[in-house]
Amino acid sequence: MTDNYLFSRLTAYAEAHPDKPFAEQPSQPSQSYGETLQNALHLAAVLTEAGLTPGDRVAVQVEKSLTAIELYLATVAAGGIFLPLNTAYTASELSYFLTDASPGIVVCDPAREAEITPLAGKAHVFTLAANGKGSLTGALSDAVITPVPRNADDLAAILYTSGTTGRSKGAMLSHGNLFSNAESLQGYWQFTDQDVLIHALPIFHTHGLFVATNIALVSGATLHFLQNFSPESIIAALHRATVLMGVPTFYTRLLQDPRLTPELCANMRLFVSGSAPMLVDTHEQWQARTGHTILERYGMTETNMNTSNPYSGARRPGTVGLPLPDVELRIMDSDGEVAQGEIGTIEVRGPNVFKGYWQMPEKTAEELRADGWFITGDLGIIDDHGYISIVGRGKDLIITGGFNVYPKELESLIDDIDGVLESAVIGVPHPDFGEGVVAVVVPSDKALTTEAVQAVTTEKLAKFKQPKHILLLPELPRNTMGKVQKKALREAYANLFT
Ligand code: AMP
Repeated sequence: MTDNYLFSRLTAYAEAHPDKPFAEQPSQPSQSYGETLQNALHLAAVLTEAGLTPGDRVAVQVEKSLTAIELYLATVAAGGIFLPLNTAYTASELSYFLTDASPGIVVCDPAREAEITPLAGKAHVFTLAANGKGSLTGALSDAVITPVPRNADDLAAILYTSGTTGRSKGAMLSHGNLFSNAESLQGYWQFTDQDVLIHALPIFHTHGLFVATNIALVSGATLHFLQNFSPESIIAALHRATVLMGVPTFYTRLLQDPRLTPELCANMRLFVSGSAPMLVDTHEQWQARTGHTILERYGMTETNMNTSNPYSGARRPGTVGLPLPDVELRIMDSDGEVAQGEIGTIEVRGPNVFKGYWQMPEKTAEELRADGWFITGDLGIIDDHGYISIVGRGKDLIITGGFNVYPKELESLIDDIDGVLESAVIGVPHPDFGEGVVAVVVPSDKALTTEAVQAVTTEKLAKFKQPKHILLLPELPRNTMGKVQKKALREAYANLFT
């Protein structure tokens, strides 16, 4: 049998169980595995006819839809490299990604076609709307392709992570990376084709695209596919679903709803949280309100999932559990591995770890050691039971509503504004988003206003990155080495949103 990893697994399952629902959506007929496979093979023919050859990038900025999932499957079936882009990215942000990745095909929302086409270079531009309409599906014919065989090391996707230096890095993920992690999680979390997984995450990020979607594909499970998160739609689905995968914000919002009861969750077997730290308090409240213990796991774009609290066995709030069965993990400082119980930088190695950053060999060499260990940049500690806790982020990353914001990118933008001397961007506790972005700006011109700064951030940045608060200070706190003391700023403004 020729191998195309996830796609081969999908093919085998769909041929054996063509009528099994792959996805159900509120007030729409469910879509079977057989239909999903056929749709993906037809879409793959459209891509191939538009000139896609193995190894070409397919850059996709579209609203969440089942067709968008089929486009991901079609791309890997055709041997292409799927490159999803956050729907919130502005034209100036997209311009960088499209230039850097030089895709052969770009798929965008019809409403943005005129704006994006000039940025797409020589790429063939298709459109796809949330309702499945557009020139992509308009080009469908009877044609299908035979899936292109791939090796484990061949690339299946590139996901951009904002760089700490402000430049985004494209994490190259292979077929072997995605498939091994999906299989590992399937076993660890005991997924079967009896599962109904509530999918309310965006599909341009590793959590929604890979963790949630790939696990369903390798298990033959059914996705309860929602356009986005709303407490209303989750509450409506809980009685017939078995698993929910979410970011901590999902859980804190659901806890505010009086309809959340043990009875409502009686059919559920698993609640998973990740992408950002969950407060112990949230774990405890969830347990009290539903009788279920949330399972927290830890991963990132470059590595897929690394650790998880156990399915059977103690789930410890405030920890991200144990390394997955095929993942090695160690805690390092500049002298090597730290003693048990000490804080250091988390490094991981395994079949889940990416192949490096797209066209950035120096960055790759800085973070991915020659012997396969990836330096995550997260600070962690291992307790007496072997459970890992994330205690901080070396990278200064802000996570707001499950999305990453790298301060450096905002600081560079703000520092360029007329009348600004310098700036520091920090994350402080926010009751709804986990962290809220705050920009502290030092004016060089007394006439500078926060409105002037905001006008630029609103124009240039995706909404999730825009500061929720901008304040002007005469100077930034610094240590004797001249380094800005972000910790002091975080402490000073810790209660801004609470
Ligand atoms: P991303 O690449 O967008 O998935 O972001 C990865 C980063 O999110 C990691 O490097 C961690 O800093 C953070 N992260 C993911 N899961 C957790 C978790 N359960 N607890 C704390 N931080 C997490």
